[in-house]
Amino acid sequence: MIAILKKTADEGSVRHLVSWIEKKGLEAHVSRGANEIVIGLVGDTTLIDPFLLESMDIVERVQRVSEPFKKANRKFHPEDSVIDCGFGTKIGGGNFQVIAGPCAVEGENLIRIARRVKQAGATMLRGGAYKPRTSPYACQGMGEAGLELLLEARAELDMPIVTEVMDPRDVALFVEKRVDVMQIGARNAQNFPLLKEVGKTNVPVLLKRGLSGTVDELLMAAEYIMSEGNDRVILCERGIRTFETRTRNTFDLNAVPVIHYLSHLPVVADPSHATGYTRYVAPMALAACAGGADGLEIEVHDDPTHAWSDGAQALTPDQFDELMERIRIIRGAIAPEAVR
Ligand code: PEP
Ligand code: MN
Repeated sequence: MIAILKKTADEGSVRHLVSWIEKKGLEAHVSRGANEIVIGLVGDTTLIDPFLLESMDIVERVQRVSEPFKKANRKFHPEDSVIDCGFGTKIGGGNFQVIAGPCAVEGENLIRIARRVKQAGATMLRGGAYKPRTSPYACQGMGEAGLELLLEARAELDMPIVTEVMDPRDVALFVEKRVDVMQIGARNAQNFPLLKEVGKTNVPVLLKRGLSGTVDELLMAAEYIMSEGNDRVILCERGIRTFETRTRNTFDLNAVPVIHYLSHLPVVADPSHATGYTRYVAPMALAACAGGADGLEIEVHDDPTHAWSDGAQALTPDQFDELMERIRIIRGAIAPEAVR
């Protein structure tokens, strides 16, 4: 349920209404936009009489929210959320960021790749220290040593790092190491204990869509994180499994405007995992930009044929340079209003 307040509502009466709602045992989320103030009510809304609420002086109207996701819902928070990922890097609400780096942290090549992606214009560095592999015999990542390499790269380059956490027991380590953004991978998009654990922190989370996940399932996964108190969630469309076999996944670019319509959270597109082939990454990255994505996540490797994982979809640093040029052209040509 949401209460849309009159423009004339003053601070004191808003506070009064919030405490009235809280006394009924519900949470009240106040969202102040340029044009209106909205209070989102979360909890057992049967305890509130909507007619009584609507009869209050400062309340313009009351609306039921039928979707099961509340905190992620744009009705609760009409303005786009802007998430600060550190180093002045904000995403959402017109702030566009490119996250780039290797699939896995493999060693000293991380810093070489990091320097190149930063020089090309990437604003965040990615790299998996803990890798979710389909086979238990495939390389599982460097673990904590990989985190240390990411921290070294961050210290040199002053850019936030994005890295995947797979196990709820590792979340404390990621917090201790001050990882800037914790990625939840597609295979863990419905790992509810993990979602809850990252929800207890205040570290931004890049939440990927499940392998066969619907948009609603992605939004409910975000709701798990937000319901624990962490509302710094960035969603990621990384392709879904369909009957098509010519690409690794099917890039569901529909999801970008659909999520923008349903939710205030930023949406990043990942054309690397969505296509699975280097040759398709650039065109689909540009399509995602034109379609209104708030950012891109792109895998870059300086020796793709020897990459520990996902070499077939990696761009070389030179290819990434060229793509960044083209991204700037598309971004320059498209006014944000044109894609929203
Ligand atoms: C990754 O980012 O390297 C990764 C494993 O992605 P996904 O979870 O989308 O497959
Ligand atoms: Mn990968």
